[in-house]
Amino acid sequence: MTSIVVLGSTNMDLVAYVARAPARGETVTGREFRTVPGGKGANQAVAAARAGAEVSMIGAVGTDDFGVRLRAALDGAGVDTDLLRTAEGPSGTAHIVVDDEGGNAIVVIPGANGAVTALTHGDEALIGNADALLLQLELPLSVVTEGARTARRLGVRTILTPAPAKPLPPELVAATDLLVPNEHEAAALTGVTDPYAAAEALLRVVPEVVITLGARGSLYASREAPPVTVSAPRVTAVDTTAAGDTFVGALAVALGEGRPVPGALAWASVAAALSVQRPGASTSMPYRSEIDMETN
Ligand code: ATP
Repeated sequence: MTSIVVLGSTNMDLVAYVARAPARGETVTGREFRTVPGGKGANQAVAAARAGAEVSMIGAVGTDDFGVRLRAALDGAGVDTDLLRTAEGPSGTAHIVVDDEGGNAIVVIPGANGAVTALTHGDEALIGNADALLLQLELPLSVVTEGARTARRLGVRTILTPAPAKPLPPELVAATDLLVPNEHEAAALTGVTDPYAAAEALLRVVPEVVITLGARGSLYASREAPPVTVSAPRVTAVDTTAAGDTFVGALAVALGEGRPVPGALAWASVAAALSVQRPGASTSMPYRSEIDMETN
């Protein structure tokens, strides 16, 4: 079984559904409120676990009620939380306003995620035994960098989702094997909007890149071969939240199993396409049997 470690965030998503988001100083009455376990790290962990890997999560939840729920959600998905810390204070939260046009505005408060400042010997041992380490940018950049460098030193593949978009420390880039931005993040990192040009620019600093292009699929580029595009299955999307995290989780599993890149990308695209046809973030992520059924 492929073994994956995620060094990343857990957040409770606090989602308000409104016809129209309030302007500054305005109060509007919303329709519905939901609390949903999320965070890019936890979402990728659940996606990889459902796609068939053995997954462990390194990160932190708070000492509030959300922390209990966030840990339970990961346990329930079969993710090993032995090295998930509980940090004094509130859990990370994402305050999300979703309007009737499907647009959203989000405030993320890191809370306990900010308390993950260094790796322990236990974390290092876990990373050393993994097939891949998945990283995003919702933990302090210093520890994300430490994680990537540790994995690199131990010969473990590092897969970085550079989200939310921010400038990357050169030491983090230098320890990244595969970078998976969406097209907006790729543009933010390179200053160019054309995905082929962005991929070319990114290949100057990392050996492999996958740029996700929403319903248009994804673009894979490496230093060894010409870029390839993989189209996304044509489906009716009802909620694209966490499509990118589903894609990365499934891609890591497929690569960990030794599938060649084109096949791994196609498999991840099927997983992400299944997720966008259902509402929710982690709740919409497909199980391995469902992905296999669509690909065979
Ligand atoms: P999110 O922030 O919502 O998690 P993202 O912006 O990180 O997503 P996208 O590029 O939108 O990432 O989507 C990731 C992958 O999901 C795409 O490469 C594609 O394979 C799949 N996908 C996204 N939207 C659709 C869609 N409407 N139909 C089919 N597949 C989709």
